[in-house]
Amino acid sequence: MLLAGVDVGGTNIGVGLVGDDHQVHHRAKEDTPTSVDALVAQVSRMVRSLDGTPEAVGIGIPGIIHDDRVVQAPNLEGWTAETDVAAQLSADLGVPVSLVNDAQCGLVGEWVAGAGQGSDFLFGVWLGTGVGAGMVLDGKGYDGANGGSGEFGHLVVRPGGARCGCGRRGCIEAYAGRRMMTESARALAAAGRKTSLFEHQEERGKAKATSGVWAAALAEGDRVVTEILDEAVAALGIGVANVCNLLDVDRVVVGGGMAGKLGQPFADRIAAAARPHAVRKMADSMVVVAGLGDDSGVVGAAEIARGRLG
Ligand SMILES: [Zn+2]
Repeated sequence: MLLAGVDVGGTNIGVGLVGDDHQVHHRAKEDTPTSVDALVAQVSRMVRSLDGTPEAVGIGIPGIIHDDRVVQAPNLEGWTAETDVAAQLSADLGVPVSLVNDAQCGLVGEWVAGAGQGSDFLFGVWLGTGVGAGMVLDGKGYDGANGGSGEFGHLVVRPGGARCGCGRRGCIEAYAGRRMMTESARALAAAGRKTSLFEHQEERGKAKATSGVWAAALAEGDRVVTEILDEAVAALGIGVANVCNLLDVDRVVVGGGMAGKLGQPFADRIAAAARPHAVRKMADSMVVVAGLGDDSGVVGAAEIARGRLG
């Protein structure tokens, strides 16, 4: 059976044709358009352009999704709960279309074909512009009563701490989301600290400080970047320990751009930061970096679409 998985990000849309072996057989990638109508038309065209006809389509969206509807998608303009993208695309393509949170898609992809294989109690942290999360509990994807369960990025690790994009203070995302980390670096630079972060950004011709830009500045020992990343690791460690204490998961997958660039040593640092706060002993290999890279969202979205076919 062939399924299509779609990964909608703030910058790019990735589409892939996925087989029963969870391999991506054919893929396409384009920039994310600004309007929802344009996005529907583009996803439809991209799915049709694939080398085969899928029996169902799964779409990962950065936001809170419930019953195939977007409840909240702060990083995508013009999306509201009234916008029924799944129904529009389903009518257009003539196959069932499922809408799911993107981090949940990423984790399900890692569960069936990547670093989460073999675990039925799995937690996934996705580090990108913000901090997303997904979970598989007792062998099933879990997204809560209202689709809002993966808000790991807004667990408070420091009451009264740094201001988060959500308006609250002390959230994990305020320390470990790339957008907030970049704002911290900018504030420190404005206060007179020296950092090469923005020079690396310019050198690479990027509109924002991407994970690659961060990794480059870190590799040369930039003090400001090192300090901000240390804080991110500390915040993530507290969060991961709390999740382990609450849910007793047996593996934590760390994915997203920053994890891809920094690799397993970064996951090991998060585990080390978590250990002092964990009630149960955390196994050495408990926190692992995602194995499928950019494909995890596409593979997971396709798998969720397959599951919905029943
Ligand atoms: Zn927050």
